[in-house]
Amino acid sequence: MRYILCVIGKVYLVGAGPGDPGLLTLRARECLERADVVLHDRLIPREALDFAPAQAERIDRGRRGAAGALTQEDIHRLMVARARDGKTVVRLKGGDPFVFGRGGEEAEALAAAGVPFEIVPGVTSAVAAPAFAGIPLTHRDLASAVTIVSGHDAEDGPRVPWAHLALPDTTLVLLMSLHALGENLRKLVEAGVDPLTPAAVIASGATTRQQVVVGTVADLAARVRDAGITPPALTIVGRVVSLRATLAWAERRPLHGRRVMVTRAAAQAGALAKLLRDRGAEAVLLPALETGPPESFAALDAALHALATYDWVLFTSANGVRAFFERLAHKGLDARALAGSRIGAVGPATAEALARERLRVDAPAASYRAEGLFEALRPLGVAGKRFLLPRAEKAREVLEDALRAAGATVDVVTAYRTSPAAPDGAAAARLREGTIDVVAFASASAVESFAAMGLAPGRARVAAIGPLTREACERAGLEVAIEPARATIPALVDAIETYFATP
Ligand code: SAH
Repeated sequence: MRYILCVIGKVYLVGAGPGDPGLLTLRARECLERADVVLHDRLIPREALDFAPAQAERIDRGRRGAAGALTQEDIHRLMVARARDGKTVVRLKGGDPFVFGRGGEEAEALAAAGVPFEIVPGVTSAVAAPAFAGIPLTHRDLASAVTIVSGHDAEDGPRVPWAHLALPDTTLVLLMSLHALGENLRKLVEAGVDPLTPAAVIASGATTRQQVVVGTVADLAARVRDAGITPPALTIVGRVVSLRATLAWAERRPLHGRRVMVTRAAAQAGALAKLLRDRGAEAVLLPALETGPPESFAALDAALHALATYDWVLFTSANGVRAFFERLAHKGLDARALAGSRIGAVGPATAEALARERLRVDAPAASYRAEGLFEALRPLGVAGKRFLLPRAEKAREVLEDALRAAGATVDVVTAYRTSPAAPDGAAAARLREGTIDVVAFASASAVESFAAMGLAPGRARVAAIGPLTREACERAGLEVAIEPARATIPALVDAIETYFATP
């Protein structure tokens, strides 16, 4: 007897939350990390997609297919086909997959095809948006039930039971309700809801673009029209809406409503973007640089095998640390290869990258530039010593020049290369439209790439992390409005905050 072995993959129907990458679940992240295929809706945060392996196939439901977008049937077919190819498929959906996202139908299609699946719940916008708007869904004194309703009648499905929604002490959350808002609210009044009941529309809830319009059932539609609200948005009706007057918190964050363009390489943008978001700003990513391996590893490899001959290894960037240790591991070596050398670092981010390798810095730079590191090394005796500088292909030569002038032997090896990235069209368009408040630069090379892409800040103010970056801005004709006293990412965010706090 012969058996045909058929390895079938699995589909994870995963909720991605309402849009803030921080509201993705740990389980969602695990699924993304092992995905071969990510089939996602629009409005999924880019950071979520970044958890998938670089080589995973990414399919944007809004951009693929003959008519531009994939139909519901296309999605069913694709999921089944990829799973039958043995792939791990993540079907990533906004909010929760089983709250008005047609996740039920997708699971039915998988069940019918005999494809194994798992449902990973997400934070639904019906819960997240009110939380970010400071509107509790229930409250001891004001509401003892919540109803989540579609504001949009399906063509061939059950009708929305409008006549039965006027329940006492109940909060109503209407999804897909912006388009027919006036009509929806009128139906509620016809059903017996008091027109003076507080009501609100929350657009892009739980994201840094959140907009909230508060009114009553009678006047909310007109207010929303005047405010020019755009989707996604939901409507919340009930006495709990009155609590927003006291509980609104998202708008009180210091950088609320500010849009800051982050020009760091994609791999490094995360920390800056996160600090900005924590303070309420929208971080618009436009990576100006890409880091990659050097054209040849020959010089770095030779240095790695001769590490015992160096008195000092000096790191000038976190990227350099990462590239150095990746290559060291690749060569079958580990930190013991550095046992005989002392270690220097320019700046706290570089020292932190070393700390992640469990290495302490012997000569921390007094200031965050090469000159500072030289000043720290000089009293320790430089003449006659051997120094290794693993770093970017193009870099300032101040440190090596100063060391050589002081009698040291210096080997500079290329550990990585930065090159200008292809500009992100959507982010660049936002600059042209004038909807960016600040363009933040964390390195001179990011400024140079930004200018080389033909981009200009327009009405946005320019923030530079430190003097070298400021000088690069000046050379590119960009006037720097914001510069922290210390050249660190947290200090840069503080400086942006101070700038906007000062009237
Ligand atoms: N499964 C999703 C809902 C999909 S239906 C969830 O659980 O959130 C799409 C509707 O969700 C939109 O019409 C809008 O009413 C609502 N929505 C999605 N994201 C939103 C957000 N960030 N803020 C407010 N409403 C949102």
